[in-house]
Amino acid sequence: MYLKFLNIWNNTMIIGTILLVIASVLVLIYNKVRLSSLKEPKSKYDYLSENDVRMQMISIWLFAIAVLFILNTTYKKTMEVHYVWFMVRFFITFCISTLIVYISYLLYKYSYPSTLDKKLKVLRYKPRVSSSGNVMRLLTEEEEDVHLDEGMQAEEDVFSVDYDVWVDEESGEVKIEKYAGRLEANRCNTCGFYTMKLKKEEIIEPSSELNDGEMIQSWECGYCGAKRSKQIKIAKMEKGHEFKLPEKMHFKGSKRVETVKVEIFLEDGSSSSYEFQSTDQSSKFLEKYQHDIETENELFNG
Ligand SMILES: [Zn+2]
Repeated sequence: MYLKFLNIWNNTMIIGTILLVIASVLVLIYNKVRLSSLKEPKSKYDYLSENDVRMQMISIWLFAIAVLFILNTTYKKTMEVHYVWFMVRFFITFCISTLIVYISYLLYKYSYPSTLDKKLKVLRYKPRVSSSGNVMRLLTEEEEDVHLDEGMQAEEDVFSVDYDVWVDEESGEVKIEKYAGRLEANRCNTCGFYTMKLKKEEIIEPSSELNDGEMIQSWECGYCGAKRSKQIKIAKMEKGHEFKLPEKMHFKGSKRVETVKVEIFLEDGSSSSYEFQSTDQSSKFLEKYQHDIETENELFNG
């Protein structure tokens, strides 16, 4: 009975392994084909940033399960001795597969983002070609405002959305591309722009180390001025939530500046970096960032 089961198990595992490896490769091929079928750099950008990590993780999952299957056909003679060995083998191989998925997950979380970032940057700044076949020019932050409506400018001012404006200087054709900004803002239900920012938080009941608290958040749209308030639970107290930026950032305003890079390190060891075209922009960004942090800090310090 047990031996018969072992036989069926073995065959199933081998067929399963073959199917899983094929599926795993197919997912990768599908990802590549989808990407190369997109013509516009902007569509490639959107596809990559939304799907690349997910597709590769799916492929790794399938591969890890394939490894689990094939390892469960090994040491056949030992398995025939007693079914306990069967359990032992399953347990060990299960750990190995989990480890494969976990290590890949860590790589994708900590190492892959910078690789992906480079790819995305190349796509974002690759010269666009207009419908009349001319190479377009990317406008600077100062030049592009003429082409953006007020709502779009408001979104750029709170750094929630970044617009790139490309111009064909011969035909006058304009291409506007929308990218995720460096800070988050919510969508305003009234005007539809991503300019809804937290203005004030009023604590009705402070949280303690034992109990949740409660507060009222006041939101205001930076474009149309719509206001909204929300009642929110405050999670129990946690230690180590304080960070502050330098009071004021001074830059020597210079025309020769090409890129300003701001790197922010938090106490929990995480960091994020942002790039700007001018010192003016980065100063504005830091002010907004500071404001966001202060609103967050009020929450924790009462
Ligand atoms: Zn609005």
